[in-house]
Amino acid sequence: MGHRKLKFRDDHHRFWFRLELKVLKNHPSAAQKVRRVLHEKLGLREQEWTALKEFMTNHEAVGVISQRHEWFLKECARLKKILDDGNNDGLDPDERSRVSTAYHETVIEQRENADEWTNRVRLLWRTACSFQHTPIARALYECRKKEGWHMHPWLVQQCKLAGGCCQRECGCCEKRRGAGISFWVRHCTPACHCCMEHLDIKRPIGPLRDTVKLCYNVRPPEDDVFSNQMMEVTVWHS
Ligand SMILES: [Zn+2]
Ligand SMILES: [Zn+2]
Ligand SMILES: [Zn+2]
Repeated sequence: MGHRKLKFRDDHHRFWFRLELKVLKNHPSAAQKVRRVLHEKLGLREQEWTALKEFMTNHEAVGVISQRHEWFLKECARLKKILDDGNNDGLDPDERSRVSTAYHETVIEQRENADEWTNRVRLLWRTACSFQHTPIARALYECRKKEGWHMHPWLVQQCKLAGGCCQRECGCCEKRRGAGISFWVRHCTPACHCCMEHLDIKRPIGPLRDTVKLCYNVRPPEDDVFSNQMMEVTVWHS
């Protein structure tokens, strides 16, 4: 994308912002269209594309870590209950020692997981600084501001196809919505404790620092239908 176009985008970014606000006031759904046109006409720098990809990857990682957190909380409570009940029922000493070790290891893992959450969130906002003056960033925030945006039929369909909770009656994905957290909500990851129970998996996925790969391209070519649709419903949707 030409240097002049990008200069035009940045030198006048307050103007673009005001224009969007004006459109937003009168025709709320048109603001996303304006942002898309601006994005398509003015584009991003290479380092902004990289930052956007990193941002999305960290967002993905935060989703997995949050679902791991739920699993750790449940597992800690389960092990603690065995130990507490054992105080009354006289738990076999070998069994007590085994459960006690498992409990303490799980508490440590839970703390590591919480640290990784902090780390990823920090990285995410740091990368956001590199592109948040652009129309695509404003589109992304706008799209994810609406409570329940993640229940878009296409995303529900993807969750079903992947064997997530939307395939069952539990309603976990729907329940994940909540005031003030809409930016973070998402469907099941392999760390979803409900999915794990359903599949009888006893431990959350892989080591914590496994690289999280983005399953779609943030800069998709026209024939990449899946990535284009992902960008459509997670960025451009109004
Ligand atoms: Zn579920
Ligand atoms: Zn699930
Ligand atoms: Zn789902």
